[in-house]
Amino acid sequence: MSASEFDVVVVGSGPVGSAFAATIAAEGGGFSVALIEAGPIVSSPPGRHVKSMASAADVARAQERSQGGHSTVEPTSGRVAARAGTYLVGDGVVGDGETGMPAAAMSTNVGGMGSHWTCACPSPGEGERIPWIPREEFEQVFHDAEHLLHVTQNAFEGWPLGDEVRAVLSTLVDEGREPDRRVQPMPLGISISPEGDRYWTGPDVILDDAIESGFVTLFPETLVVRIEITDGAARGVTVRDAVGGERRIGARMVFVAADSFRTPRLLHVSGIRPPALGRYLNDHIQVMALARLDDRFIPQGEATAKPHARGLELFSGVNWIPYDRDTFPFHGQIMQMDASPIPLSGVDEPWPGSFVGIGLFGCKDIRAEDRVWFDDDELDESGLPRICIDYRLTEADHATIRGMKEAAGRLAEALGGLVGDDRPTHLPNGNSLHYMGTVRMGEHDDGNSVCDSFGRVWGILGLAVGGNGVIPTPTACNPTATSVALAIRAARRAIDDLTSYQATQTEETPHAS
Ligand SMILES: Cc1cc2nc3c(=O)[nH]c(=O)nc-3n(C[C@H](O)[C@H](O)[C@H](O)COP(=O)(O)OP(=O)(O)OC[C@H]3O[C@@H](n4cnc5c(N)ncnc54)[C@H](O)[C@@H]3O)c2cc1C
Repeated sequence: MSASEFDVVVVGSGPVGSAFAATIAAEGGGFSVALIEAGPIVSSPPGRHVKSMASAADVARAQERSQGGHSTVEPTSGRVAARAGTYLVGDGVVGDGETGMPAAAMSTNVGGMGSHWTCACPSPGEGERIPWIPREEFEQVFHDAEHLLHVTQNAFEGWPLGDEVRAVLSTLVDEGREPDRRVQPMPLGISISPEGDRYWTGPDVILDDAIESGFVTLFPETLVVRIEITDGAARGVTVRDAVGGERRIGARMVFVAADSFRTPRLLHVSGIRPPALGRYLNDHIQVMALARLDDRFIPQGEATAKPHARGLELFSGVNWIPYDRDTFPFHGQIMQMDASPIPLSGVDEPWPGSFVGIGLFGCKDIRAEDRVWFDDDELDESGLPRICIDYRLTEADHATIRGMKEAAGRLAEALGGLVGDDRPTHLPNGNSLHYMGTVRMGEHDDGNSVCDSFGRVWGILGLAVGGNGVIPTPTACNPTATSVALAIRAARRAIDDLTSYQATQTEETPHAS
C-alpha cells in the first residue's frame, strides 16, 4: 500500500478516534490506519494528558496550543470564559443563557479534549443506556473501555475526609439502590506507579504502542476537508495540511470522530445530509454548589497532623453519586478540594478535602429543534462553513434545574453548609463539555438517526461515525467512557466488514496473490 493508501482513515485523535485506531491495530490482523488530526502535537508522547506534564510552563504551553490559535481564555464582550485547552465555538452560539450554547467549546490538538479532561468514567445507569444494544454485550465492551482507559477507583485511595463525605452522601441517596449504584469513589482514568505517582489517561495511553509498531500513522496539523464518496461508498478523504495544498488519502473505510460539532460538519460538506444530521443536540444540564465540611468532620486536637495539600492538582478526591432514574435522576461528581476555589476572607490553610464542590449533571429534554447547522455562505478560520447552534431550554428542563438546585442544596446542607453567599448555580448551556446527539445512532433508518449502533452511516458503505454525538438517549453521566466503548464495538464490526469484503474480493479474483 502506498503512503497515501490505507485500509482505514480515522478523522480526529481524541479518545474516541484513538480507541477506534488502537482496536483496529490490536485486533485487525494487520490493517493499516491513518489517524488524521487537524491540531498540532502539543506533548511527548503525542496525546499525553496535560496533568501528567512535568511543569506548569509545559501545561500552559500545551493548553494554549490546543486552542486553535485562540490565545485567551478570558471572557470577552459578554462571552463566557472557555476552559484552558479549549476555545469557544463560533459567534453564532452566543445566546442569553436561555437560547444558544454560549459555553460550547472544542479543542484542536493531537489528543483532542482527551488531553484536558477530568478522566471521570462512570457507567451509565438504567434509562441512560442504549436500549437496543443488548445489556450484556454493552457491559462487556464497557469493561474493555475501562481497561483501555486504565480506569480505577483507587486513584485517591485514603484521601482526607473521603470516607466521611461518602458516609453523608450515602445516608441521603443510597436507600433502595443496587450495591453497584450506591455512592462510591468516582471511576477515573488514571494509572498509578509503584511510587504512587498518578498518570492521567490521555490518547497516548489509549494508543499505547500502535504508532511505534507501525499499524497507525499519525498525520498532525492535517485538516480533513472532505470525505470522498464514489458509487455510495467512502473511498478516503481529501486533506489540507500545514503546507496548504490539498491531497487525497485513500482508504477502504473512514471513521469520523471529530467531535459533536465538526463530525456533522464534515458529513455536511461531503454532501452527506440525512435529515437527523446535527439535530437532537444535547448537553448536560449542570448545577454547581460549594460546601464546606463543618467541625464534625475535621479532626480536632494537636495530636492529629494535618495532611499535606496536594498542590497543583487542586483537589484530593472525587466521589460519585450514580444516576438513578427513580430516586435521584442526576449524576453527581463531588470534588473534594484542598483550597476554596473562590476567594474567602479569614480562611487560611483549610483542612485538605474540606471544601466540597457539588457538581450535578442532569438530562436535557431532547428535541429535534436543538441543533448544530452550518452556514455555507460564511467560512470560519479553518475555511469550512461556520458552525451555528439553535438551542433552547424547555419547561421540562427548567423543572430539572429546580430539582437539581434543591438536591445540591440538600447535599450541601448535610455536609456542613454552603460556603459564604454561594447558592446552587445553573451553569451556562454548553458548560458540561459533553455534547451529544448530533450524529445519533438508531435502531432503524427511519429518518431520526444518522447511523446504526455500530456507527455505520445509513446508506453509505465504509463510512462510520463515533464520539458523544452518536449517543441517542438522555443521559446524565460523563459520556467519554461510553463513547470509547461504542468505538471499540464499532472497530470490531469494521474489522469484520473489512475482512468479509476482502474475502469477497478474493473470491471474485481467484488468481489474485
Ligand atoms: C476540561 C475538560 C474536562 C472534561 N472532563 C470529562 C470527564 O471527566 N469525563 C468525561 O467523560 N468527559 C470529560 N470531558 C469531555 C471529554 O474530553 C470528551 O468527551 C472527549 O474528549 C470526546 O472525545 P472525542 O475523541 O470524541 O473528541 P475530541 O476529544 O474532541 O477530539 C476530536 C478531535 O478531532 C479533531 N478534528 C475535528 N475536525 C477535524 C477535521 N476536519 N480533520 C482532522 N481532525 C479534526 C479535533 O482537532 C480534535 O482533536 C472533559 C473535557 C474537558 C475539556
